[in-house]
Amino acid sequence: MTFLANNYNRKKVSFKKGKGSYLYSTNGKKYLDFVSGIAVCALGHAHPKLIKAINDQSKKVWHVSNAFQIPEGEKLAKKLCQKTFADYVMFSNSGAEAVEAAIKVARRYFYSIGKPKKNRILCVKNSFHGRTLGAIFASGSKKMTEGFGPVSGFDHFTFGDHNSLKKRITKNTAAIMVETIMGEGGIKVIPDWCLRGLRKLCNKKKILLILDEVQCGIGRTGDFFAFESSKVKPDIVPIAKGIGGGFPIGAVLMNKKVSKAMVPGTHGSTFGGNPLAMSVGNEVMDIISNKKFLNNVKNLSKYFLKNLNILKDKYPNIIKQIRGKGLLIGIQLHKDQTLFIKKLMENKLLTIKAAENVIRILPPLNVKKSEIDIALKVINKVCSEY
Ligand SMILES: *Cc1c(COP(=O)(O)O)cnc(C)c1O
Repeated sequence: MTFLANNYNRKKVSFKKGKGSYLYSTNGKKYLDFVSGIAVCALGHAHPKLIKAINDQSKKVWHVSNAFQIPEGEKLAKKLCQKTFADYVMFSNSGAEAVEAAIKVARRYFYSIGKPKKNRILCVKNSFHGRTLGAIFASGSKKMTEGFGPVSGFDHFTFGDHNSLKKRITKNTAAIMVETIMGEGGIKVIPDWCLRGLRKLCNKKKILLILDEVQCGIGRTGDFFAFESSKVKPDIVPIAKGIGGGFPIGAVLMNKKVSKAMVPGTHGSTFGGNPLAMSVGNEVMDIISNKKFLNNVKNLSKYFLKNLNILKDKYPNIIKQIRGKGLLIGIQLHKDQTLFIKKLMENKLLTIKAAENVIRILPPLNVKKSEIDIALKVINKVCSEY
């Protein structure tokens, strides 16, 4: 008997504690957690520094309202701007909220320069930007939007189809918004040369570039942001998931040009940027934005991807393709991945599905090489028994 609405198909397992890369279930089993709460627990479970940060702050002050200055938030915003393209930050509590704020900033920018009709956002068909009304219609997926309309102002092009992209830009387009790496959509990476092309196209058409880094950002790819290897500077970037290390935090990062539109009264959040959240965010930021830490993510990724590709060559009838960048990895199977994920779980390895028959693998960014070896062994075992 459950009193929770039926909007999730939950696996029949629950956890009583976590430590590092492991989760311990209420029925006494130990799982290697390569879901990390979907890229949220970027430093694993029960990280001592995060526990200390939240404990210390919890004894001082939890919440005050953005009607007052919040030094912990000032500090995190400064770090985010110093380490990235951004000039200004607005905090919220989730990815979808950050995406909504990104859309608001883009629309308000054109409004503020006297072009209120320039308000349409061009997105990738079947992408994922969250579950609020604006975000589902940005995603352009029938499954997500069916029965939830009307919401207007979004256009869509097909991933990788440059002609459909160019054709869809009109005089009313305000921004192109894409995930730098499509997460839910099947771990599809936009190559660096395409990101550069997107930036050029936006410059030429005088529209804004929004890169949704909610899933692929915050060190996940071995760079702080997934777009950094392309050297492209976006105008607006929503983030969330990893930045809180498990505590709900969202934020939208923006450049000076567009930030000018966000004058007092244009946006707000009761909980956004509260001292408790910000104290954890600061700690996560200090650990993940460190060059050495990020280089280690790159090295672990190289090792993991190399060995997954060896498994792909060993089992060409099961594994179709290895996708991803950093520790945002997809194993695309030839067939439906549900049974495979179930078998991995029976072998105490937690993974999660994505579109296109992909098994999504999201270890904590501080995962040990020995833990990657355990995962590889389990994947090999399940392949061999298939
Ligand atoms: C998860 C996700 C979101 C939504 O984040 P929530 O915290 O669930 O609202 C938005 N964009 C991308 C790319 C995501 O992966």
